[in-house]
Amino acid sequence: MSYSATHPAPLEAAHDPTSLAGATRPELAAALAGIGVPEREIRMRVAQLWHWIYHAGATSFEPMANVSKVLRATLAEHFTLARPQIAAEQISSDGTRKWLLRLDPVGPGDKGAEVECVYIPESDRGTLCVSSQVGCTLNCSFCHTGTQKLVRNLTAREIICQLLIARERLGDFPGLVPPGDGLVPGEGLRAVSNIVFMGMGEPLYNLDNVRDAVAVMSDGDGLALSKRRITVSTAGVVPRMEELGRETGAMLAISLHAVRDDLRDKLVPLNKKYPLKDLLAACRTYPGATNARRITFEYVMLKDINDSPTDARELVRLLKGIPAKINLIPFNPWPGAPYECSDWERIEKFSDIVFNAGYASPVRTPRGRDILAACGQLKSETEKLRARARLAVGEE
Ligand code: SAH
Repeated sequence: MSYSATHPAPLEAAHDPTSLAGATRPELAAALAGIGVPEREIRMRVAQLWHWIYHAGATSFEPMANVSKVLRATLAEHFTLARPQIAAEQISSDGTRKWLLRLDPVGPGDKGAEVECVYIPESDRGTLCVSSQVGCTLNCSFCHTGTQKLVRNLTAREIICQLLIARERLGDFPGLVPPGDGLVPGEGLRAVSNIVFMGMGEPLYNLDNVRDAVAVMSDGDGLALSKRRITVSTAGVVPRMEELGRETGAMLAISLHAVRDDLRDKLVPLNKKYPLKDLLAACRTYPGATNARRITFEYVMLKDINDSPTDARELVRLLKGIPAKINLIPFNPWPGAPYECSDWERIEKFSDIVFNAGYASPVRTPRGRDILAACGQLKSETEKLRARARLAVGEE
């Protein structure tokens, strides 16, 4: 991958080596070997830890009743199960929750970056929208996150911890009590049943960590989410799409937003590198895409920009032959945004054309707009504070 001033290489985080929250099986095995657990015991011990961390949601070694007292003490001497801190929690009037998480510092002078993670409850499911990077390098012109400068990849542990934290806060581990405010799905349903990689960042620029995170989240002995309920969204990093499908088995979403290259170049500048023709070709060959496992095409409705009936008909033509569903997203405004949301009649007309061509075309109801938790509104407070500080000293 090549980087430039507009696409800087993301910094790699040196995650807190002492916390095992979010660790993969090989990482747990290495940690155990490092404290002298004999080789022949490691498999069993990894299975035990795995169960406690991911099935039971343990936050310390103490409750691990089937692990000997001596080993629990040794583990506690060397490791923790610490997760990133919740710096702020906001709950929208519609039940959407947004957590601002403070990550561990990655080096001298770093106070710890912040990322956001959003939970969207519906009657039949609960979706957690996770971030894959701090900030984003893509600079899509309608997305708030793209205006945030600081960028680094999240580690797999930091991605997985978003799910651990959400499940803890939602009372979704054995023995915990749900919030009881009626704002999580009904009885017998898991609070978090679906994951979408649609928070901050471009997941395919952090594919190795996203792949590890998907593996841990879908592991049947632990967090046990179905891979069909894990969706990775990309603005179209074409060369990594095949690998995503082959290595994770996750569902794919494409942030399409325009049906002509000249417009898409402006909305999603990555299009200049990977134009529509290449993107759609990669969708046609995406591993595992079938009518039962359709690719989602996200399309943000921008007033007088991409919302005409001609655009809708062209969209149908472009997607011909791809097992697709289309998600129309009313544009979510943010302070200073250069766009407006399309009028409702316009969205309905667009949706009708797509529907009549045989595609499911739900219009996504904006959720959590009152707490800036909706698509494209995420931008962490650190960056806002930094921007304010820059203004104060007279910089840009
Ligand atoms: N970088 C990945 C993951 C982010 S997903 C990607 O682009 O797919 C976030 C989704 O919200 C994307 O589809 C994005 O295009 C959409 N989005 C961004 N800003 C938005 C806004 N202001 N209103 C509605 N949707 C927006």
